[in-house]
Amino acid sequence: MDPKQKQEEQGDIFSGFQKPFKSFATDAIHVGQEPDQWKSMAVVPPISLSTTFKQFGPGQHAGYEYSRSGNPTRNCLEQAVAALDGAKYCIAVASGLAATVTLTHLLKAGDGIVSMDDVYGGTNRYFQRIATEFGLKVSFADCTKPELLKAALKPNTKMVWLETPTNPMMKVVDIKACSELVHEHNKDIVVVVDNTFMSAYFQRPLAVGADVCMYSATKYMNGHSDVVMGLVSTNREDLYDRLKFLQNALGGVPSPFDCFLVNRGLKTLHVRMERHFKNALAAAKFLEADPRVERVIYPGLPSHPQYEVVKRQCTGCPGMITFYIKGKLEHASTFLQNLKMFAIAESLGGYESLAEHPAIMTHASVPEKERAELGISDTLIRLSVGLEDKEDIIEDLDQALGAAHPKKN
Ligand SMILES: *Cc1c(COP(=O)(O)O)cnc(C)c1O
Repeated sequence: MDPKQKQEEQGDIFSGFQKPFKSFATDAIHVGQEPDQWKSMAVVPPISLSTTFKQFGPGQHAGYEYSRSGNPTRNCLEQAVAALDGAKYCIAVASGLAATVTLTHLLKAGDGIVSMDDVYGGTNRYFQRIATEFGLKVSFADCTKPELLKAALKPNTKMVWLETPTNPMMKVVDIKACSELVHEHNKDIVVVVDNTFMSAYFQRPLAVGADVCMYSATKYMNGHSDVVMGLVSTNREDLYDRLKFLQNALGGVPSPFDCFLVNRGLKTLHVRMERHFKNALAAAKFLEADPRVERVIYPGLPSHPQYEVVKRQCTGCPGMITFYIKGKLEHASTFLQNLKMFAIAESLGGYESLAEHPAIMTHASVPEKERAELGISDTLIRLSVGLEDKEDIIEDLDQALGAAHPKKN
């Protein structure tokens, strides 16, 4: 393929989507990374392991005292993430769930949270089994229908928790429509968006009305499946002041080494996400056309029920595909066991392709009845399409489908 044709093919998959955020790649590479912040003029931020920092006199210091309250390597990462989210502020914490816990500590007993009904399992477990024990009132609404969110808002509602696209059903929420109706109801309600699946490159919740953007950086933001971390960004100074206080007071901070790794992962976020999109779209199209597959759910396909919202809200789509294989549980199992390159594993968003069975693996803790209502059946398979060659990805899917359905039908 000549370069021009190649370029056209690339441009094509992004047509109809929002344009990339201005200077995203430049910011990912430079913001917070200025060499002159170090005496050594190091171009790559050093890993600052010291837990404590020498003071000139009691209470007089160069910006750092103790590594839980502030760390130079963490600071580089937080500045870079803030820039990528179009935010003024960011805090990094030890996991995505630590981010959820820290955010929930903005509330007090008696306050209400309205959450998207189809949220990450750990978020659901934390809200239902822990937050309620501390006197928070948690309710759930299908926010793909903004009128249902509106009906769920109460006088005590202080936080609305959105996640889009959802896992594993890839439901897409219109962040702008939801944020507007929530803030019309009460401008002080904190609208949080879990942006883990899209990453900062494909979706910017703060630009369309959300108050807070959070991530499990364990997934695409780090992108190398070797760090567990959480990130929280905001433009609201009042929220940042409180979150910064909570980061130190609750203590769920990440290690400087992990901050170094995620900061490094961000340098290639834009390149990785474009390739995830290219590979996943090719795989989704292959699966959709295959007679051994019942149905494919991918936000980048015109067949997705909220495709119009996706194009209006996002600059592209990540590597997450959900599909139903024809047949029964045994067909899904045979397919998974016969994959050669895809690893059967939980998690997502790394450079390597993964496949899993939500009903047995990631969503086993969801009661069977709820699973059935959500559509998480025995034939549902979730893929995290990685950065390998697209031909090899499709070949692996094809041969594993062949093992599950020896005769094409
Ligand atoms: C993984 C994940 C989380 C939890 O993050 P951890 O880093 O595992 O604590 C939250 N939300 C979504 C959408 C996730 O995929």
